[in-house]
Amino acid sequence: MEGIFTAWGRILAGRAPNLSVEITRKCPLTCPGCYAFTDDHIGPGESHRQLSDFKGAELVDEHKPIHVSIVGGEPLVRYRELNEVLPWLAGQGIHTQLVISAARPIPEEWSGLRRLQVVVSIDGLQPEHDAWRTPATYDRILKHIVGHEITVHCTITRQQVQRDGYLEEFLQIWSANPAIKQLYLSLYTPQIGEMSEECLTVADCDRVVEQLLYYRAQFPKLARAMPEELISVYAEPPESPDDCVFAKITTCFSADLEKQVTPCQLGGNPDCSRCGCIASAGLKAVGRHRLPMGIEVGKVFDGSSWVGARVRQVTETVGGR
Ligand code: SF4
Ligand code: SF4
Repeated sequence: MEGIFTAWGRILAGRAPNLSVEITRKCPLTCPGCYAFTDDHIGPGESHRQLSDFKGAELVDEHKPIHVSIVGGEPLVRYRELNEVLPWLAGQGIHTQLVISAARPIPEEWSGLRRLQVVVSIDGLQPEHDAWRTPATYDRILKHIVGHEITVHCTITRQQVQRDGYLEEFLQIWSANPAIKQLYLSLYTPQIGEMSEECLTVADCDRVVEQLLYYRAQFPKLARAMPEELISVYAEPPESPDDCVFAKITTCFSADLEKQVTPCQLGGNPDCSRCGCIASAGLKAVGRHRLPMGIEVGKVFDGSSWVGARVRQVTETVGGR
């Protein structure tokens, strides 16, 4: 509840409480489904490869978020800068989520950092994952996460749900690993009009929701990270970015610190009606909670972001920005 009121305060001040920063354009991987390097990720004709790299913490100073997501490219290629940025963010009282592939060792000193969540993307069982995400193979990940407290993030694709028992096997393997604290499962989110092999059908989504609700009882590391309300949202995603709490309270910047990625971190024209983003589902689930006075949190955020936008407009005009 305290987090909701802090976020509410930021929105009323005309600021998005979440900041998502693509800290680098560099990545040693070449995932076939990568959205970060598509031609329209940032805007028509502007791909991520044209931008220079992240150089500091200016954005955080300017936007004063309460939560920062650091994504890439592969953020670990900037591990020296992160050695300074991560403790600085923690010292500012900011919660940081760092999303990496773990293709290279995770610095030891990050294991004790407060307010830091390290998320490793692991897309399926070893044969499929290694084929997609070499050099961030299972073998390397297993070696590099030892001594850390890791959140696994897997994006579920159609190929995975077509094999009976695939998700269960995945959950068994990673639940048993002592370095894993919790498990996040997103659903593949296509761009509008996309018909790739990764896209789930409505029937696939319904089946995944049913399975995840069932697996929560078997896998506490899944249950801890994914409440029933969140999983249920996958069966009824937002209709558009206007209906997405996550998109409304998050500002996403690409690696030059100036260009914004819209409408959310996926960029381009994502198909919200087929969205399986865990952040969007999580915030929609939070939005359905009722405050003590009986009002839904989501309705309060909606009204506040309208007021906040006006406050920011006035502030910027007065400040001549
Ligand atoms: S690790 Fe991320 S940025 Fe790199 S290729 Fe894969 S999806 Fe793209
Ligand atoms: S997170 Fe999902 S619902 Fe929200 S804007 Fe992006 S694609 Fe749409």
